[in-house]
Amino acid sequence: MTVEAPAAIKPYVLVVEDEESLATLLQYNLDKEGYRVSVASDGEEALLLIDEKQPDIIILDWMLPTVSGIEVCRRLRQRAETRNIPIILVTARGEEGDRIRGLDTGADDYVVKPFSMTELCARLRAVLRRIRPGLAEDCVSHGDITIDRVAHRVRRAGAEVHLGPTEFRLLDYFMQHPGRVFSREQLLDAVWGSDVYVETRTVDVHIGRLRRALNGGADNDPIRTVRSAGYALDV
Ligand code: CA
Repeated sequence: MTVEAPAAIKPYVLVVEDEESLATLLQYNLDKEGYRVSVASDGEEALLLIDEKQPDIIILDWMLPTVSGIEVCRRLRQRAETRNIPIILVTARGEEGDRIRGLDTGADDYVVKPFSMTELCARLRAVLRRIRPGLAEDCVSHGDITIDRVAHRVRRAGAEVHLGPTEFRLLDYFMQHPGRVFSREQLLDAVWGSDVYVETRTVDVHIGRLRRALNGGADNDPIRTVRSAGYALDV
């Protein structure tokens, strides 16, 4: 019997760039680096895509048709749901004033064109590590739970926990956002993928398995059921 190693959840990057060749290059390289990537070619499309599915990080060009990058950044920072999405602003302008303006608007970092993919990827990792440590690190701990994405191991209070691939991905996702409540639909989308048809009841089944594995008979349930809302990991 072969045991399939559970795949860790890839961070979702939204690239907002109207220059088609650069957008393609970014998509290709980020995909190779292990990210899930979507591309928007103007500010309006970017805002629509963000409403549909929240990215883990946005690479945002400053000069864009319809709504400018700065304006996208400003609008995202005004709304509670999007306020904390990390943003790397990309621009051809290298003036000190623009740099400060970009960071003032709420961008987390700033890259000047032309840039190398190595530089961009390093910035991306650095921003993710700073803002969303749960996404960028190989090994993450919350409370007494530790998940090792490279070795595919989970420990609770030092004891090894054996999880199936789906439970591993569920826990991985919860560990990226401890304390946050997710609906069954959001969990389906993040863990199973939006292009897969699975009943929401399936989520309950896998949550049940994850619970049993994590608790191991103990009476210390880290997964909170929020009535008519979904689930959260509280550790
Ligand atoms: Ca542009």
